[in-house]
Amino acid sequence: MATKSIYLDYAASTPMDPAVFKAMEKFFINDFYNPSAAYLAARSVKKQVDSARSKIAGCLGAKPAEIVFTAGATEANNLAVQGVMRQFPDAEVLISAIEHDSVRTPAWLFDCREIPVNSDGRVNPSEVSELISDTTVLISIGLINNEIGTIQPIREVAKVIQTHCLRRQKAGNLRPLYLHTDAAQAPSYLDLNANRLGVDMLSINGGKIYGPKQSGVLFIKSGVQLAPIIGGGNQEWGMRAGTENVPSIIGLAEALVRAQNDRQAESQRLTAIREGFIKQLMQKFPKASVNGSVKYSAPHIISLTLPGTDNERLMMELDEAGIQCSTGSACHASSAEPSHVLRAIGMSDSNAHSTLRFSLGRDTTQKDLKYLIAKLTAMTAANR
Ligand code: PLP
Repeated sequence: MATKSIYLDYAASTPMDPAVFKAMEKFFINDFYNPSAAYLAARSVKKQVDSARSKIAGCLGAKPAEIVFTAGATEANNLAVQGVMRQFPDAEVLISAIEHDSVRTPAWLFDCREIPVNSDGRVNPSEVSELISDTTVLISIGLINNEIGTIQPIREVAKVIQTHCLRRQKAGNLRPLYLHTDAAQAPSYLDLNANRLGVDMLSINGGKIYGPKQSGVLFIKSGVQLAPIIGGGNQEWGMRAGTENVPSIIGLAEALVRAQNDRQAESQRLTAIREGFIKQLMQKFPKASVNGSVKYSAPHIISLTLPGTDNERLMMELDEAGIQCSTGSACHASSAEPSHVLRAIGMSDSNAHSTLRFSLGRDTTQKDLKYLIAKLTAMTAANR
């Protein structure tokens, strides 16, 4: 085992912020009550859940009644996609070609088409416009891609959708046209105001923002026609049955407020570290490429292709040297298939097998990435 430990897989999981853990703690043991119970102690817990809901609504520029708690982003994405599509069984859904599997899998249960992306991983809003048909009811495009870090032009897509909605109204087509964004990778870096983004639904996840895993939210704009996918009690306005996971809800609110408060400073800090790393890297590895967009990139994701290397092997060697990273999406970590994201941006299978993802976070320093370059240099000497 290496003595050094540099964690560079924040896009897969973040450590819990001790302040978040502290806020959650008492709801496991003392304030354990079911928020739906009638006695005073339970009503007090319900008030705390309401307060967490209001804080989250505040961060998203939403009303508290537009917030539905879920067990993570996977469930929030499933609720958005399946919830809408079950209401409109003869309609179609459009998703970007680089969506996370938690959007892809439910979308492909229905009539689904993919929106291509360019080599930077961005959708083109006019192409989205051309793909919209009279039966399209839902468009789902992730705000930040988890493998290559590309930020999508969501506001521009929202404008395109607005134009289509007006045209539909005039033509007497009563089908809605909703825009959903999977923002699981975004809260620590981008503005999540749903109105400014122009989205009807937005998914977030506590496990990526120094909060608890299996905590999440789907923002559902009032008026969106959506059927629940989990039946049972009347929690979450009947949109998501099951006794509320109170500690997780409290933790998620605490984590989201902190992420949004710190996002500008943290974005600036990580952008500088990321850019410095790329500059040094390109000097040492002239054949390397950093995937995604130069202009529209999240500050925390570096998708790096070192042609001729074996990413699985390099990842393991880095691990031995104390550096933890991934070959792509955490949920595909054991798959031999090249990622659909890298294929969608036009990468060859052999380059996809030479691609690693480093994702940065609160504890990442410039020194960590210097060490990474030194290790990569030593490990790949034969390939340059
Ligand atoms: N969406 C994106 C963009 C993600 O990066 C992830 C996790 O990697 C998810 C959804 C799913 O999150 P979870 O597995 O925590 O539900």
